[in-house]
Amino acid sequence: MPDTHRQESLGRDPDVTLITPSAPIATPTHGGRAKCLQRLVRLDLPVPRTVALGFETVHAIATGGMPDIEWILGVFKPDALICVRPSSEDPDWGGPGSVLNIGMNETTHAALSERIGAEAASALYMRFVQAYAIHIARLDPDVFEDIDTTGSDGLAEALRLYEEEAEEPFPQNPARQLSEVLSSMARAWEGTTARLLRQAKGAPVDAGLGLVVQEMALGLGQGECGSGVLQLVNSETGERQITGRYLSQSQGREALQRGQASLYLESDPRGPSLQELAPEAFEALKAHAAFMRERLRAEMQIEFTIENGQVHILDGVRVKRTPRAALRIAVRLAEDGIITRQEAVMRVEPRGLSELLHRQVDPEAERDMIGRGVAASPGAATGRIVFSSSEAQASAARGEPCILVRRETSPEDVRGMHAAVGVLTERGGMTSHAAVIGRGLGLPCVVGAARMQFRQKDRVLVAEDGRRFAEGDTITVDGTAGQVLAGAPRMVEAALDDAFQTFMSWADAERDIGVRANADTPADAATARNFAAQGIGLCRTEHMFFEADRITPMREMIFADSAEDRQTALARLLPMQRADFTELFRIMEGMPVCIRLFDPPLHEFLPSDRAGLRDLAEALDLPVSDVTRRVESMGEYNPMLGMRGVRLGIAVPEIYDMQARAIFEATLVASREGAPVVPEIMLPLVSACREVELVRTRIDAVAAAVRNESGRDFDYSLGVMVETPRACLRADEIAQHAHFLSFGTNDLTQMTYGLSRDDAGRFMSDYVQQGVFAEDPFHRLDSEGVGELVAIGVERGRQGNGGIMLSICGEHGGDPDSIAFCRDAGMDYVSCSPFRVPVARLAAAQLAIRDKIG
Ligand code: PEP
Ligand code: MG
Repeated sequence: MPDTHRQESLGRDPDVTLITPSAPIATPTHGGRAKCLQRLVRLDLPVPRTVALGFETVHAIATGGMPDIEWILGVFKPDALICVRPSSEDPDWGGPGSVLNIGMNETTHAALSERIGAEAASALYMRFVQAYAIHIARLDPDVFEDIDTTGSDGLAEALRLYEEEAEEPFPQNPARQLSEVLSSMARAWEGTTARLLRQAKGAPVDAGLGLVVQEMALGLGQGECGSGVLQLVNSETGERQITGRYLSQSQGREALQRGQASLYLESDPRGPSLQELAPEAFEALKAHAAFMRERLRAEMQIEFTIENGQVHILDGVRVKRTPRAALRIAVRLAEDGIITRQEAVMRVEPRGLSELLHRQVDPEAERDMIGRGVAASPGAATGRIVFSSSEAQASAARGEPCILVRRETSPEDVRGMHAAVGVLTERGGMTSHAAVIGRGLGLPCVVGAARMQFRQKDRVLVAEDGRRFAEGDTITVDGTAGQVLAGAPRMVEAALDDAFQTFMSWADAERDIGVRANADTPADAATARNFAAQGIGLCRTEHMFFEADRITPMREMIFADSAEDRQTALARLLPMQRADFTELFRIMEGMPVCIRLFDPPLHEFLPSDRAGLRDLAEALDLPVSDVTRRVESMGEYNPMLGMRGVRLGIAVPEIYDMQARAIFEATLVASREGAPVVPEIMLPLVSACREVELVRTRIDAVAAAVRNESGRDFDYSLGVMVETPRACLRADEIAQHAHFLSFGTNDLTQMTYGLSRDDAGRFMSDYVQQGVFAEDPFHRLDSEGVGELVAIGVERGRQGNGGIMLSICGEHGGDPDSIAFCRDAGMDYVSCSPFRVPVARLAAAQLAIRDKIG
């Protein structure tokens, strides 16, 4: 029996301690497993005696030190078998595998043979010799894994092989066995591979390892003996469901590995169960698990052993869970009064939400299938084909959804995957790079589409039936079905269940900053509504002009020689724009809709190839040479800094006049049918206050004309997109002419760094890898440089106009860290792409809660 007078912790070394209710154990010093075991001990659950070794001790062991092994062994019964398990600070960081049955030798073998029978005792000893040989003595695994006899013969063979390979007999002394196990596990943690692996999961460079040494409850012997794993919820969905397995005469997690031989826990039509075999033990386990859930305030997976009918709890770890399950678990714990709603909101990682949010191909839609592969990450996405990560980044910067098509992906592609809406690869399976990263990002992904041809060099994707798809062609990746489809089939929105709605309503109750969506099309707007965006923060109108029926009048307008001709072309565009806006207003039902007037350089709408030039010449009834000359003359050396945005509004004011009229007329139509609409009109690329004054005068005049013609009144507000450094610096005077300012941090980042949005992808990985930038500044707002300009803009904007509304509409509006910056800066809302709206709502709620609870 253990010496009851012995001190709980090793006198000279308080880092090594018996786990008792009051022992000095903390997760940052002894790891999560040790801390959890202490909680179980405090709950008076049947946990075998356990000693915890802290990080310092384990680090010392790795460098040649050793705690008092005799003291540790003295804590347990003299002939007890013990096991050692890792206890890292965060269970996700992993650690060396557990080693069971330490203390097994000739003497214990003989004693155990009496107790549990010779066969079982030999099997146990043999298993220990094998594990020790492979993992501790690091002998050739093939030699030990291939032993084909069992019982005493198998044991004799294992011992013989050990002696042959290690050139010494199998160590009999439990103290030697334990110290070898401890140093092997400690050294494994400090090895380079283990370090890199855990750092990839977010562990700090100096993450420590604790170890727990526990007396074994055997799981072998007379009466009902065995081991298993139990949890009260389904890890995929978070639904209530007792899951796990039990295996008689087994140890550790064997029950999970032995398939058919293992029992279900609860009675199950698929096969025999522990509930039928040992109902009392099953009830006891269930009660322990429910008690742990309530008192540890989390869903736990418990590892248990049954020894002659008696239940022992060896370990408890947080149930592994998908983001979908994490959300449901948090909601249920709060509904059961175990945690508060605020805690529930804090328990789901905002970025993980995206997995719940994906749209799928409508089951009723026609499918033009061009390839098949592994359904590696759920959801479906439509975009234009790109063949490289840098093109994916450039495409995202232009606001064009793209599908990244690669033979396979590697870490260099991660940035491109971030930028793409879907990924398709030729090679790989469920656990290949693209699949793992795709799931992590919640990005629809099909891998291993080996029957398609990926001609990366020619920039062509050849379908299974031989059709060719070039870069820029539109395809759809259905990561749920593992299919690649031509074109853009109809989609249905993500299935957002009750738990999701409840959870998000709790988040919204805490949130103190608005969240809108950037939405250009009715489909975007519908998604935005579905995700409870509080309006549209940015509608980029230029996309509306690329459609087939609009591009020709658009080109005619661009080519018009006189104001009159231009008016004629614009008159054709007006009803189309009016219809666009009316539909957006209808979908948004009176919520604010912020429409940005035309932004890109005009020549983007002109053809660049010969065939296009000829078509245009025909439409305009001009010689091709004339058209070519005109197109060339409109080219700019640096179009992103050229005649675009509000500059067009000054130089060719009829375009903005037409758009303003379309907005006002749509306002009247939509307001007549439903809730009154108060449109917000936004001017892009402003750098001087006079620009705003001039355009505002004209827009006010259009409003007056529409009021006159219709005999009806309406309100609207006019704002400025702050996306040039000068607009930030002059926000004071600009704000005096505006109702709102919205920070366009995409262009602002581009101009602050002097870094092209479309070209940065080429060297961004080098820059981030070499630590020039901590993060891609187009993903996470650069709080030091660009952020300082934003802060100046906010402060001066408020000085110029105390009542001004402030927001962000660059891509950063959906990034949790950037949202923190905007909230600190005192903005009224953030606006981001529709699928990021729930992520932004949750991130903002968590910021508010953190402030409240301090
Ligand atoms: C921006 O520049 O931040 C912005 C939102 O506008 P766009 O991306 O259309 O240039
Ligand atoms: Mg911009």
